[in-house]
Amino acid sequence: MAWVSEVGGGYGTTIETTAHLFSRKSRYQQIDIYETVKLGKLLMLDGIIQLTGFDEFAYHEMMAHLPCCTHPAPEKVLVIGGGDGGVLRELGKNKSLQELHICEIDEEVIGACRKFLPETACGYDDPRVRVHIGDGSLFVRENPASFDVIIVDSTDPGGPGEPLFGEAFYRDLKGALRPGGVIASQSESPFLLPDIVLRLNAITNKIFKYADYAVIQVPTYPTGQIGMCVASDARDVRPQASELPPELQATLRYYSPSAREGAFHHPLFVDRLLQKARRG
Ligand code: SAM
Repeated sequence: MAWVSEVGGGYGTTIETTAHLFSRKSRYQQIDIYETVKLGKLLMLDGIIQLTGFDEFAYHEMMAHLPCCTHPAPEKVLVIGGGDGGVLRELGKNKSLQELHICEIDEEVIGACRKFLPETACGYDDPRVRVHIGDGSLFVRENPASFDVIIVDSTDPGGPGEPLFGEAFYRDLKGALRPGGVIASQSESPFLLPDIVLRLNAITNKIFKYADYAVIQVPTYPTGQIGMCVASDARDVRPQASELPPELQATLRYYSPSAREGAFHHPLFVDRLLQKARRG
């Protein structure tokens, strides 16, 4: 038995493991996959928790279904990052989607997850999936007016995810949308990284006509939660524009119309942060 920790910002999260299933330094990052005592499999990149089997459903369901239900009839979806396949797995449940593209920079993450994390990487088995290996910031620039929904499931700033946290990238994201398109991006925890939450919301409010911020409860992420920016030029992003078919909804454990509604209601300090972001 060994304890594995993510540490930073003055504190850490420690998880008890039973086996170190995979360890390799790729061109972009250190990749580690563990079996744990209580939390199922654990994926870490550069020592930062990406997912555990215990609560990945919360993050992946919200990242996939919330933006797709913000669009009235999405057909073509792009995931940037998301190498573990969890967002793809959730998108795959939605049979009205026609093309599921993923642009992941590190093909070694995909390979490791396909071998050791089939629970999430089964997302790649869907015949609608098209995999593009490369930097998502370049991919969106090279594919204007192409997607109904773009989901940015990135690592934190620093490392290969750095270009995915700037204003230029968000302008290119908007350019890669078809008319009526919606974006959703991993946008950090307001307890842990309020400066980044402020910056990303200021960017989305500046660039898109409608922008908002939802929070997802994910116990194994530092502070137990993570946020997502949601934005569109076409419509207010809070109301649900389309419903999931009942048979799909029945497979879910987190996303629902009421969980969606709740995710946009915040404690005072977050509301104040978002008001500041709207003022620019
Ligand atoms: N849900 C996770 C989190 O927030 O902790 C993120 C999961 S997913 C594993 C993140 C993926 O983003 C990684 O596989 C990483 O290789 C990929 N990534 C980082 N920077 C990227 C970039 N510039 N373009 C495309 N993919 C990128």
